[in-house]
Parts: sequence; C-alpha cells; structure tokens
Amino acid sequence: MGDVILKTEGLTKSFGKFRAIDTVDLKFKSGIITSIIGPNGAGKTTAINLLTGALHPDKGEVFFKDKDITSLTPDQRVKHGIARSFQIMNIFPMLTVLQNIELPLLSLLGKNLKWFHTVSHYQDVAEEAEKILRELSLWDKRNKVAGELSHGDQRALEMGMAIASKPEICFLDEPSSGMNPVERAAILELIKRLAEEGTTTFVIIEHDMDVIFALSEWIIVMNKGEILAEGKPDDIRQNKEVVEIYLGEEV
Ligand code: ADP
Ligand code: MG
Repeated sequence: MGDVILKTEGLTKSFGKFRAIDTVDLKFKSGIITSIIGPNGAGKTTAINLLTGALHPDKGEVFFKDKDITSLTPDQRVKHGIARSFQIMNIFPMLTVLQNIELPLLSLLGKNLKWFHTVSHYQDVAEEAEKILRELSLWDKRNKVAGELSHGDQRALEMGMAIASKPEICFLDEPSSGMNPVERAAILELIKRLAEEGTTTFVIIEHDMDVIFALSEWIIVMNKGEILAEGKPDDIRQNKEVVEIYLGEEV
C-alpha cells in the first residue's frame, strides 16, 4: 500500500441550497483498489466529478501528489494522469472499436481525429491499441462500429479508453451497471488484472456488493454528502452504522 496519491480537504459542493458534498476529506492510496459505496444520492458521483474536474467545489481543495489541482480543468487533470469512466456510456458509437482506443492514445500525443488516416505512422499507438484491445478481449471486434457491440463489450471498451492513457489513478463510476452476470464477472476480472499490473490506482463506485467486497482493499462509505465510515472490507462489513444505513438489505 503506497502513499496518498489524491486527497481532498474540506471539499464542499452545493446545488442550489442542497449540499451534495459537505466538508469531505477523502484520501486515496496508490496501488490499491478503493471503493466508494453508499445509498443513491449520497454524493458519490458528485465527489468523482469534483476529483476529476467536471465540477468545481464551492469550498475546499483537491491535491494530487500534494499539488493543489483544484482549479485545473478535466483535460489538464487527464494530462496529470487522472482518468475516469462514466456512469453513463461515453464511447463514440459511430467510430470503430479500434478508433475508440486510438483516440485517447493520440490525444496523449496532442493529435486528434483528423490524424486517423495516418495512425499507422504512429507505430507505438498501433501497438498499444492492440495490447489494450487484446486485454479487453475486443481485438477480434476491432473493426466493428462501437455502437453495435453488446452492452458489456461497450462498457469494457469504455474502460479501455479510460486506461489507454496509462493514468496514475482511474475512477470507474458503476462499471458493471446494466451488465448481465457473465459480463459482470468479466469486467470484474479485467479490473482486477489491470490493478494487479500495478500501474494504475483504481477508485470504483459500485452498487454490487459482491463486486465491492471481492475487489476492494479499502472502502469509503458515503451518506448524505459525508463520509459515514471507511476501512478494510471486513471492518466495513461489521460496521453497525453502515449495515443499518446501507448494507442492511444487502447482506
Ligand atoms: P450518488 O452518485 O451517490 O447516487 P450524486 O452525487 O449523483 O449521488 O448526487 C448527490 C445529490 O446531489 C443527489 O441528491 C442529486 O440529486 C444531487 N445532484 C447531483 N448532481 C446535481 C446537479 N447537477 N444539479 C442538482 N442536483 C444534483
Ligand atoms: Mg452516481
């Protein structure tokens, strides 16, 4: 378990009069899978939006390796190595599977879509794209239009896009949402494998408690915009308050 890679101090965000995140100090250690759980509306997605720059806090700071990144845009944060996949699908349905993976790889080089016809000139991009697609078991489908993939394959592709840039930390918002049990097991396996390769720190939001307890080394429980508890899976499972508010109906 490594150092703290990302943290917040006094993070606060309101929508109108409603305080979605209330003075929260989050800490994420590098090299482990951390999960954020909690009831609907707890503020999980809002927290991720604040960490990745999609939203800006009303109060508080975000630090990445002790550097204050609170005012950075999402793009600037991506360049620092902070990536995400979305609760809502975020692939390009009209592009091929391969192009979807090449896009983030090219953007890392400061290139964009119009470079696609010359992508073969970037040998390292082509090689990296192949490696990722093989890892996702999507290599055979590389020339398919992404919008035609099964839901599970689309989620896998989306995750591939998030990890293509080799982020230092990657946020996954409900990666198994809408998946059938087979797809869910596959995505779980994929996350595990990527985490074990050790280059990316993962933070996962999930409702599926089997996924959470199988994957996580650290769990943060949120409720009503605050941290209700955090700890190792076994401690969270036995935490009275957590069981009462969230796990009760699940375990
Ligand atoms: P979670 O991901 O834990 O289910 P969210 O972070 O999405 O929760 O939402 C936390 C609360 O903030 C919810 O009550 C939600 O309705 C509210 N909220 C989230 N985003 C917005 C927004 N853009 N405008 C207004 N309210 C929002
Ligand atoms: Mg959410």
